[in-house]
Amino acid sequence: MLRGRGVSAGAAAASVVHLALPLPEPPSDIVIAPADRESEVSAIEWAAVAVADELRSRTAGASGEARDILDASRLLASDPELVSEASALVRTNGRSAARAVWETAAVHEKNLAALGGRMAERAADIRDVRDRIIAEILEVEMPGVPDRDEPFVLVASDLAPADTAALEGGCCVALVTEQGGPTSHTAIIARSLGLPAVVGVIGATGIAVGATVLVDGDRGTVEVDPSPSKIHAAKAAGIVVPFDGTGSLADGTELPLFANVGGAADAVAAAVAGAEGVGLFRTEFCFLDRAEAPTVDEQVAAYRGVLAAFPDRRVVVRTLDAGSDKPLPFANSEHEDNPALGVRGLRVARRSPALLDDQLRALALAAEQEDALVDVMAPMVATVDEARDFASRARAAGLSRVGIMIETPAAALLAAELFEIVDFVSLGTNDLAQYTLAADRLLSELGDLNDPWQPAVLRLIGAVGEAGRQVGRSVGVCGEAGGDPALAPVLVGLGVTSLSMTPRALGRVAAALAQNTSDQCREAAAAVLLAATADEARAAASAVLGR
Ligand code: PEP
Ligand code: MG
Repeated sequence: MLRGRGVSAGAAAASVVHLALPLPEPPSDIVIAPADRESEVSAIEWAAVAVADELRSRTAGASGEARDILDASRLLASDPELVSEASALVRTNGRSAARAVWETAAVHEKNLAALGGRMAERAADIRDVRDRIIAEILEVEMPGVPDRDEPFVLVASDLAPADTAALEGGCCVALVTEQGGPTSHTAIIARSLGLPAVVGVIGATGIAVGATVLVDGDRGTVEVDPSPSKIHAAKAAGIVVPFDGTGSLADGTELPLFANVGGAADAVAAAVAGAEGVGLFRTEFCFLDRAEAPTVDEQVAAYRGVLAAFPDRRVVVRTLDAGSDKPLPFANSEHEDNPALGVRGLRVARRSPALLDDQLRALALAAEQEDALVDVMAPMVATVDEARDFASRARAAGLSRVGIMIETPAAALLAAELFEIVDFVSLGTNDLAQYTLAADRLLSELGDLNDPWQPAVLRLIGAVGEAGRQVGRSVGVCGEAGGDPALAPVLVGLGVTSLSMTPRALGRVAAALAQNTSDQCREAAAAVLLAATADEARAAASAVLGR
């Protein structure tokens, strides 16, 4: 039995597949003897045919955007120029098959990059096809999330956001990583995909490929070779609690429950799950793999996809939170020694104000064309001046309800002053904990510090809630704390007026709120504010709320 931190609820069992490591550059100093060159050339030809065939059969089984992407890759793999140019390198220069494909792809990539715009973005497709062909030649696994037709548990040292996004619609049933913390984006995406996940599992990458494991995202355990009865019991316990679409306390006080989404598909799923709106639309998730900034028209289309899922409902759109563990190539090109403390979130606008203005314009255009009630907010605000600048840009773009996220202790302490400028705030408790405890949210070793039950975090939330009450403004929570059924009533008692979470958590949070009155929530809040440790805070809340 291996242990880590359960970061996405539920349990699943299947055989282990490892995330394949990136392919190293094939050596350039090997010269193939003239007599062996033809067999290298046939290796290229066979590999290209095999890749094109595989992509063809996967295209047939895919739909929507995935189908278009696969088909574009299939066309590239079938391109006779790629094979003939690589073969010429083998025949004339004695390059190995793998090296010849690598060099040919590099030339194509450079030509595309020189064309700029959307053509330049095809460079990533070339690299993908190159890696597929080389992996076929070398008879190794294609890098990244493996393609499988059978259910599997993905085991990795860590996952990049793009890897995790590639899991959508595939056969992966659970995730296990050696690194990562509870609020890492891997954990967030795992929750939104509804995949049980355990992170920070020391020794995970030592589990043999093909071994059956039972991943329990609630307990944070990974059991190798579990008994069939355990597999059965774990599956029965992992059932999602349904949500009827209205969040309220036992005394009838309404407490809207919103969803966190990263794009149109998430938004549709959130609407089906009964979410009352969107409390956090992480717009950067739409553009994670883009080398160049999306155009205003592309942004309008992406935002409309989310707004359309919630007509007449509130949708809180966050401007790009680029940087730190979600670098966007077009926004964060510079190296930073401390990216979590660097130019991330709203700070990117210091360097590229046009990027923010374009996004605000795109959002205003999308809002005009859809019926959702659109709110906009900025991530990573630390000062009143930043909030003022953001609010004036957003209002100038035609967006009327403007807010900010409270993710830094500085913003929490200035909540009263910030409420003079903005219409609402939303607590990003993931970052608020990271910055309050000075603990990297990606480090599993520091998971106990990245805990919203830490009294210092609870007191800051309480200060923001109190400032909101004074002026009668909304205080949301959209960090992972919002989806914790034990914490939700406490947050409400601290002055929080709405909660936003992964849609799978809606039912459990609604059930927890429905058991408590406003008075009980306030009593629990008063109790946790006296706690000196996270454990004491949990115990104080459960003594009042009885959970
Ligand atoms: C947060 O920090 O709590 C938050 C909601 O933003 P993100 O997790 O995207 O940084
Ligand atoms: Mg954040």
